[in-house]
Amino acid sequence: MITAFSDKFERELDAIQLLNLLGHDTEKDKILKNITNKHRYFIHEDIKCPSCGVAKAHIVSGSYSEKSKCYTKQPHFRFYNSDTLDNHHPLCEFSDNIKHSYTKKDIVKAEFSKPRTLITRYIASLVCQAIENSLITQTDIRNMRQWYFDIRKNNIIPIKINFEQYNIFEKCIVIKNVTENNPRKFKPEYAELPGFNWKIAAYHRIIAKEKEFFNTITPRKLLRNVEKKYFSVSEIFDVRVIMDEYILTTKLRSFIFNNGYINGYKFKGGLRDELFLNAYCSLLLFVSCWDFNTAVILHVKIINLPPPINPNLGNIIGINPFDNFDISRFILDANDAYDFLSKNPDYDQKLNSEINILKNEHKIWKDSFFKG
Ligand SMILES: [Zn+2]
Repeated sequence: MITAFSDKFERELDAIQLLNLLGHDTEKDKILKNITNKHRYFIHEDIKCPSCGVAKAHIVSGSYSEKSKCYTKQPHFRFYNSDTLDNHHPLCEFSDNIKHSYTKKDIVKAEFSKPRTLITRYIASLVCQAIENSLITQTDIRNMRQWYFDIRKNNIIPIKINFEQYNIFEKCIVIKNVTENNPRKFKPEYAELPGFNWKIAAYHRIIAKEKEFFNTITPRKLLRNVEKKYFSVSEIFDVRVIMDEYILTTKLRSFIFNNGYINGYKFKGGLRDELFLNAYCSLLLFVSCWDFNTAVILHVKIINLPPPINPNLGNIIGINPFDNFDISRFILDANDAYDFLSKNPDYDQKLNSEINILKNEHKIWKDSFFKG
């Protein structure tokens, strides 16, 4: 990993920054090939994984192109034991053995070290301003990661549901959604309307018959981006345990969003902007003990500070605890209904048969009406 936490310097540093601070001549040894044993020992004891807190870091030297004056491979940290096995906690986001999340590359981290857009650069500079003025410390950032890691570690849930069953779950949400604001009881007279909606009437019948199950389904907007790949894992973090924090974060994000221009930057609400803003908002809330008003005031203070002297201070924030939050939540809710969904109820077939029953009821009513 590129950056890790130093107990001595109380912040997250990359290998070059750390060796500079230790007095190693990084101009002469750009790729960190000639580190003294004393420094190696220090790094081994001092440097910790910012997520799971494991120690015993090693420096992996990089490579540098004199021609293009840049690193082709940046020196970095690795955490391994004598057998060169990955030393992170198995649930650590940096572990090679990571298995709880979708795929490693899907974990979008709000790394501020290589900000791509104006807005990410701007948020990075806000974090630097906050650090320089001691409104937020690097230790806070480290503590937030530890907080998140501990919660995640203790709330891993086995996923039994597959993609097909998930699709049935979505269908059930649709059924719940469309019936929500439509009259409940079918009366044969209704069907005299030229555009009578048999489907909704049939959905009501289905819900009435499967009350127990449909009571567990809440109407909600469907997600468009739940893909098959998300079901290839055997367990995921139960994000629902940080629902309150998530709601607060989105509330703060909306507040910053709706108060539009910050120093001329307009948040347009693109996905990447949103991720960075989420990371920033959750950090503000974390250091404010998740109190909304305290976090807003902290944001106001930060905004009004002068630009940072050292733009590299905020080169991490490391993690956005709310990546893929909604997707995970939908999958977990569907997973709760696994026992029911695994029987593969066929709602198209149920719908058709209920429509036939209703049409028949209507016909009987009509026949008797005209007879009478
Ligand atoms: Zn770790």
